[in-house]
Amino acid sequence: PVRYYDWIAHHARRTPAKTAMVDLGSNRRFTYAEFDARVGLLASHLRDVCGVGKGDRVAVLALNATDTLEVQFACFRVGAIFVPLNTRLTVPELQFIVGDAAPKVMIHDDDLADTAQSVSRLCGVATTLRYGATGSYEQAIAAAKPLATIEPVTLDDVSTIMYTSGTTGQPKGAMITHGMTFYNCVNLGGPAYITPSSVLLTVLPLFHTGGLNCYTNPVMHVGGTVLIMRAFDPGLALQLISDPARGINVFFGVPAIYQFMAQHPAFATADFSRLVIGGVGGAPMPVPLLHTWEARGVALQQGYGMTETSPAVLALDREDAGRKAGSAGKPVLHTEVRIVRPDGTDADVGELGELWVRGPNVTPGYWNRPDANRSSFTDGWLHTGDATRVDDEGFYYIVDRWKDMYISGGENVYPAEVENVLHQLSAVAEAAVIGIPDPQWGETGMAIIAVKPGHTLSEAEIHAHCQANLARFKCPRTVRFVDALPRNATGKIHKPTLRKSFATASA
Ligand code: ATP
Ligand code: MG
Repeated sequence: PVRYYDWIAHHARRTPAKTAMVDLGSNRRFTYAEFDARVGLLASHLRDVCGVGKGDRVAVLALNATDTLEVQFACFRVGAIFVPLNTRLTVPELQFIVGDAAPKVMIHDDDLADTAQSVSRLCGVATTLRYGATGSYEQAIAAAKPLATIEPVTLDDVSTIMYTSGTTGQPKGAMITHGMTFYNCVNLGGPAYITPSSVLLTVLPLFHTGGLNCYTNPVMHVGGTVLIMRAFDPGLALQLISDPARGINVFFGVPAIYQFMAQHPAFATADFSRLVIGGVGGAPMPVPLLHTWEARGVALQQGYGMTETSPAVLALDREDAGRKAGSAGKPVLHTEVRIVRPDGTDADVGELGELWVRGPNVTPGYWNRPDANRSSFTDGWLHTGDATRVDDEGFYYIVDRWKDMYISGGENVYPAEVENVLHQLSAVAEAAVIGIPDPQWGETGMAIIAVKPGHTLSEAEIHAHCQANLARFKCPRTVRFVDALPRNATGKIHKPTLRKSFATASA
């Protein structure tokens, strides 16, 4: 078995004075030497004071901070399992997850202190540490002795339990091995142009794979620099990207991030000239939004992935971004994919099927979920649940989740396709389509729309636009207007909430 190689210690030897990370929330900056030293001190505290050993879990509940990356790498050094928690969850929701992961230590910040304390008490977590200048976390680091020995772990050992976004139901804890993270760093390096000169602005939460692995870990893996934003702020993001002194050249967001930036007044004058890559993935990307960014000189590169695959599976190269707008690209290195029919045979080119993935970046399974583990894999292939097709040049198109598909008059409708058409209307800020029960058609579509401030849009205009651009069975029968769509912490539209609010009310 291949041993895990400590990248942070490596860069501390090669480039000790280089800036590893900047914490934009607290305005602290750490060189690789400083970061490495802090990781070692924290690791020694966790092992020798808290009694954390190989395979023990360490949970973090905090808004984005560089401290959370210290916890990750300290866990790696003692062979413990890093468990980042979603800060948006309520105490009962966290109680479920923390009960499931059963961590030995809970680390939190000031903002989440009350929640973390309640959950720790309810779940019997023995030790808690608090971030901040005067918190117990800094005291622990100040008092710790350097770590004498590093726990030998292999690429097959579990390093992290990462809970999925919970877009379709209860979050599941995907077991992430050292090898999966390593392969993601390797697999993304090419298409995302990640080099030691990369300066990344991280805006997505570090407790989801998008924030942690797109591209925070890959950039640290090669010894680049990461700037960590406490919580996403579109105006601040545009200002930072435009600032030559920051030198930000790598960025990643889910579609909602790009949408909120594009709607910000500073978008028109922001300077994107240093950006080498703007990566996008995590949810269906409306093609009109790609064009909005293209008009500002940014060819956003779509990728596809999931928590369970660490996450990269597909990525679009920059030179294909315009020609293949809407495609999530081709499989990344070391990754095999298939598009499979419901009967388990391979779909033809152009035919819609479920995407299956295999490779060293794919999870060995979910933590404590034998049922999900049985239903999610066939001979090592992970079933993604995503309806996908490939064109004759080998470019993949993620159409939508199978679960969000609805059947109207016997015809399958993929809401993402309808949402794309709705986004062509310039007054539309946000759009979602769900299937609702219908006595005549089985199901029909309902469009739920948030209109841009200062714009007007009538139901009749929406119907007319859909009828001009979509087959009849795909046109939403009903329209509801809302101020904003419900989204989860990753910024994905939460369709279960929409179904609860609208599907039964109008049935
Ligand atoms: P849960 O599994 O808990 O319901 P989730 O699936 O949203 O939540 P993640 O692992 O964060 O949790 O997201 C992976 C999913 O995101 C994919 O299965 C897919 O549905 C969606 N996705 C990712 N990239 C794209 C993309 N480029 N286009 C469309 N959908 C995407
Ligand atoms: Mg999922």
